[in-house]
Amino acid sequence: MTDPSYTDLRRYNQTIAALHADPDVTGDLLLVGMWLARATILRDPPEGENGWSVEAAARDLYPVATRPAMNSFGQWTAQETRPDVWRVHDVLTKDIRRYDLWADQPGGKRGHTVCGAKTPRKPRCGKTVTVATTLTDPATGRRRMVGACRRHTDWWQEQTRANREACASVEIPRPPANAGGALARHISLDWPALWQGLDPKWVPPPEVDGWERPALRLVVSSASPSQPMVAGGPPRPRFALIDGALS
Ligand SMILES: [Zn+2]
Repeated sequence: MTDPSYTDLRRYNQTIAALHADPDVTGDLLLVGMWLARATILRDPPEGENGWSVEAAARDLYPVATRPAMNSFGQWTAQETRPDVWRVHDVLTKDIRRYDLWADQPGGKRGHTVCGAKTPRKPRCGKTVTVATTLTDPATGRRRMVGACRRHTDWWQEQTRANREACASVEIPRPPANAGGALARHISLDWPALWQGLDPKWVPPPEVDGWERPALRLVVSSASPSQPMVAGGPPRPRFALIDGALS
């Protein structure tokens, strides 16, 4: 490894600071982000033939596996001598850029849905729900949880029926992404290729504010860590990191 230039060191420092300042980047995600910053900016470790590997990150970050794994005899073992590749896998998978139903709900997570029926006194009943489902906005594809308490199931069934009808005759667009992609805000990497490697069914979700970041490559070795898998998709430049690109 050659000594990094002053520009690279400065960019590395700025990236690490930005990762720390980002409220969406915490815990293991922050750790993996710091590893990626060092790899992609300072070239430490240097890039392999197909890019960096998830396994290399796991070797540095989690050299001793913490989760049991199935051995070839079908028994669960502690796998103490191998790096925790799946941990890096999980961190990156949770950060895949996507539309997330729960991120689109007012409470931001499960368990926040209350009865939405209008009552004579209140715009919303607010009682604990006994039934719940998602209604799709036919214009945007965004989904909203709608539930009802025991008293308002008729209202809820009518909402559900009306929504089904409204969606039946139109082509529902894919909703814009609203979750994941936190590391991609800071690290220049061929993220679409990585996300396809982590989830072969992944296709780029629509973005409301044109979100694009090409470049360096981290490869996923899925079933067998010894067999690196290069994600499919259109070829992308592997060295698109240009001085000043991340000002
Ligand atoms: Zn109610």
